[in-house]
Amino acid sequence: MPDFSIGVDLGGTNLRIAAVTTDGQMLEKITLGVKVALGRDYVIGEMCDAIHRLTDKYRATGKFIGAGIGVPGIIDMETGMMRKSANLPGWSDYPVRDEIERRLGARVFLDNDAKVAALGEQWLGAGRGIDNMVMITLGTGIGGAIVLNGKIFYGMNGMAGEFGHVTIEPNGVPCGCGNHGCAERYASATAIVRMAREAIESGNAPALAKLASSGAEFSAQSIYNLAIQRNEDAQRIFNSFGQVLGILLAGLINVLNLEMFVIGGGVVSAWDAFAPAMFAELRERSLIYAATAPEDPVGKKEGASAQIANYTRKKTIITRALLGSDAGLYGAARLPAS
Ligand SMILES: [Zn+2]
Repeated sequence: MPDFSIGVDLGGTNLRIAAVTTDGQMLEKITLGVKVALGRDYVIGEMCDAIHRLTDKYRATGKFIGAGIGVPGIIDMETGMMRKSANLPGWSDYPVRDEIERRLGARVFLDNDAKVAALGEQWLGAGRGIDNMVMITLGTGIGGAIVLNGKIFYGMNGMAGEFGHVTIEPNGVPCGCGNHGCAERYASATAIVRMAREAIESGNAPALAKLASSGAEFSAQSIYNLAIQRNEDAQRIFNSFGQVLGILLAGLINVLNLEMFVIGGGVVSAWDAFAPAMFAELRERSLIYAATAPEDPVGKKEGASAQIANYTRKKTIITRALLGSDAGLYGAARLPAS
């Protein structure tokens, strides 16, 4: 059997651990409902116990080459410490990687959750066989990563790919990062709920007001359910969401000209509600996209985009992620091997 590694997805509510072979077979997955509130030392203890169980079990069949851990936060790649994490209070300025390495006696890699999800999709999901891609993760906020030549592009100190904090509206909604009008204030689960509440306050969204006062959960999911029932107030919110995502993608395509842009994260399940507005926006805002969009026959476009199209038969693919929440596990397991 091939060598194997361990991938860990340390979320705000769940701790998931998987043994994955170097050729991409998941041997076993453990999900622990670990309470992050019980503290860092407890969580690290549970994690290392589970990793030991898996490595003991599979060591006889293949060599254990190390563990990768995806965490929600900004990582200092050199020290293996978390600089900032909203979901894991008490973990910053603590030598997370070194401590786990010491307990396991194996190589450990710590990385941002959106970056490892991108690596997973590039290895075994939507980006399989594609060396260069971007992944945008839509959740509570927007996460992102750029993969170049099969490896994550980190930038100078690991912070590249923060697409959620690209400015969309110069005088827009304040963001936790200190800026105004960041993309994630308009295209995330949080943003959907905010826009719905604002629509209710304006007095022009009776169906949303009814949903909010019904006692049922008022969430991106329930607002999406209204949108697919063709409620115009809910559809307007997802149109605006798609428009912002289109603006963001148009900028990324213009800068990077990559072959694939993968959209993942929990909110991607609302794809049919936001994608039409996203594609319409893209065609309008990116000459490169208009010239390389898959549906258009090459050479039939007018003007400057036709000239670009003449240079290439390659297409810009914008697609949904395929691995769901397992992308992070596969990607984390890939870190020791890459
Ligand atoms: Zn921001």
